[in-house]
Amino acid sequence: MKRVLITGGSRGIGAAIVRAFTEKGHRVAFLYHTNHAAATRVAAETGALPFSCDVSDPKALGAIWKDILFALGGAPEVLINNAGISDTRLSRDVDDATWRRLLDTNLSAAFYLSRMAQVPMIGEKWGRIVNVGSMWGKIGASMEVAYSTAKAGLRGLTMSLAKELGPSGITVNCVEPGVIDTDMNSCHDEATLAALAEETPLGRLGTPEDVAAAVLFLASSEAAFITGQCLGVDGGFAI
Ligand code: NDP
Repeated sequence: MKRVLITGGSRGIGAAIVRAFTEKGHRVAFLYHTNHAAATRVAAETGALPFSCDVSDPKALGAIWKDILFALGGAPEVLINNAGISDTRLSRDVDDATWRRLLDTNLSAAFYLSRMAQVPMIGEKWGRIVNVGSMWGKIGASMEVAYSTAKAGLRGLTMSLAKELGPSGITVNCVEPGVIDTDMNSCHDEATLAALAEETPLGRLGTPEDVAAAVLFLASSEAAFITGQCLGVDGGFAI
């Protein structure tokens, strides 16, 4: 049984990750932003402990950290940086505030939490950090410049932390989902989703459970010799 902290656990991929870890008997706390109803549902279903906090705000994370440790009964041994937001518009229309919000939420939050979580992990000489990137961070998405840039940054964060923290027994990896059937893609109409499924070599959209299985594996003892890797969970889309 490990103590696990998951960001963005109230919905979509994060909720599936919460389920995957609690089903294995781990003690799980998760962060979410404002959707209290969804967070309450996931907590009731899984027994995981919900905390409302804006992950893009380092002060808010610092303020809530002690409460998380108290609830978990110790520091997280596994950190899953999953919370994220997307934004679609031409690059020339991306204003400064949107650029910063996308970078802060999708990239800086993973850095802030990794910075906090690594200290007790180093003390224990064991830890797992898994970042949830995107295939768009690998191949770039038209009209998603801030999102793609943030997700590409997660690749650098993953590799750099893997080198720095490896000697302390901590692995750091990244999963890069393709098109997954969650609220994030509810902006697309059915025809667009069908076209995206057709463009995917495996011929379907991914499920949150597809991604959760990969995250669970990278956090497991079976993945002890894997670090600094970005694993595509995209049905072959980004080949
Ligand atoms: P959803 O929109 O379904 O859920 C997003 C989650 O992140 C929610 O739990 C939300 O909380 C939380 N969140 C958003 N902003 C903040 C914030 N500032 N502070 C705290 N929590 C926040 O997204 P998905 O499940 O689809 O995506 C999860 C991750 O997977 C993201 O990083 C995304 O970029 C990545 N991804 C998704 C893909 C897809 O096709 N769906 C493809 C590739 C990558 P609340 O419920 O309170 O709003």
